[in-house]
Amino acid sequence: MTTITILGATGTIGVNTLDVIGRQADSYRIHALTARRNINKLFDQCVAWQPRFAVVEADVDAAALSARLRAAGVATEVLAGAAALAEVASAKEVDCVMAAIVGAAGLLPNLAAVEAGKRVLLANKEALVMSGPLFTDAARRHGATVLPIDSEHNAIFQCLPQPANEGLPAAGVKRLLLTGSGGPFRTLPLDELETVTPEQACRHPNWVMGRKISVDSATMMNKGLEIIEACWLFDVPHRFIEVVVHPQSVIHSMVEYLDGSVLAQLGNPDMRTPIAHALAWPRRIESGVPSLDFFRLGALTFDPPDEQRFPCLRLAREAIAAGGNATAVLNAANEEAVAAFLDQAIPFTAIARLIERALERIAIRAVNCLDEVLEADREARLLVRSAISETS
Ligand code: NDP
Repeated sequence: MTTITILGATGTIGVNTLDVIGRQADSYRIHALTARRNINKLFDQCVAWQPRFAVVEADVDAAALSARLRAAGVATEVLAGAAALAEVASAKEVDCVMAAIVGAAGLLPNLAAVEAGKRVLLANKEALVMSGPLFTDAARRHGATVLPIDSEHNAIFQCLPQPANEGLPAAGVKRLLLTGSGGPFRTLPLDELETVTPEQACRHPNWVMGRKISVDSATMMNKGLEIIEACWLFDVPHRFIEVVVHPQSVIHSMVEYLDGSVLAQLGNPDMRTPIAHALAWPRRIESGVPSLDFFRLGALTFDPPDEQRFPCLRLAREAIAAGGNATAVLNAANEEAVAAFLDQAIPFTAIARLIERALERIAIRAVNCLDEVLEADREARLLVRSAISETS
């Protein structure tokens, strides 16, 4: 029996995690489910799963949710705020934490899970992008096992030699090939990018995802964040990682070895596969994902990324090359710009311009502690917000 906390239970990753767990319900006990403010969905999940705790954002009326649950005969205790998130991520009885809050808000609970030596299933790439070396050091020091949920990193993990303690080059790995679909605007005429709407940006051709990551896929910042995520997860420099545009999203990433072998992980584009893999690793469990039908696949195609169309890819590489606080600045500037685009306050093409401006204006400094990461995050958000208010 594994006891699990799901951070971000009401999001697309959280819902898919519960779907996979439901297929082997006898093997899992839910300690906590968390949401920001989607109370109705959290209520339904508590009724269905009877977790010990539910956690919501600090300014949400936790007492009202608690009363509703009691009236429905559910004993779940409702907590609120950041300290409660960290508490349910690090509780003694928890074995495994699904880290699926979107954005920087996931950093503190993820770190709490890592510092408590949990098995952490990491979907929340932004936390790792912000805090890279601090996060991986904490995992090493506290004996946490971090398993990637991002389909690309999960694919790479599956194609790597296990264990590869001596480092990837010594294990004969030559390159990591990170595939990406190119998103909904891969072939849109460049002069039309200026006027695309949030709805168009969120209509991903292959994956159903939350709105923030959908916009990241449309700008390909998602792939940029994934380059940085791969650097930290697999301890390699960014030049070791090549991006391959593969519009069908059937190959989820590849590992090339010195002898010319290329190992790929394939499957239908459905997040339940990496979730099931990480939940059960090193075993395998049923995920509910249908078999890949090779006879209906059609052609698999591959292209180099177009950096003129997708400047965020270049910005992400520049940030990881600069090091220090630059990746935290990149992430925070992106989160603010994407939120403004989703609110229709800026055009799509302004996202990359705002991030570039933040990277140019904020001095690169080494980061040695969490406070320095949070300071870079704050500085970048302020800068982007004031740039947006100047132009509107
Ligand atoms: P969603 O937007 O669908 O869900 C986000 C979850 O986080 C929700 O439960 C939301 O609660 C909660 N949340 C949002 N803001 C806060 C906050 N400030 N404090 C506490 N909780 C918060 O996102 P996804 O599920 O799509 O993505 C989650 C993470 O997984 C992201 O980091 C994303 O990059 C990563 N990921 C997602 C993939 C996908 O296919 N969806 C693939 C690979 C990685 P509420 O519902 O109440 O707003």
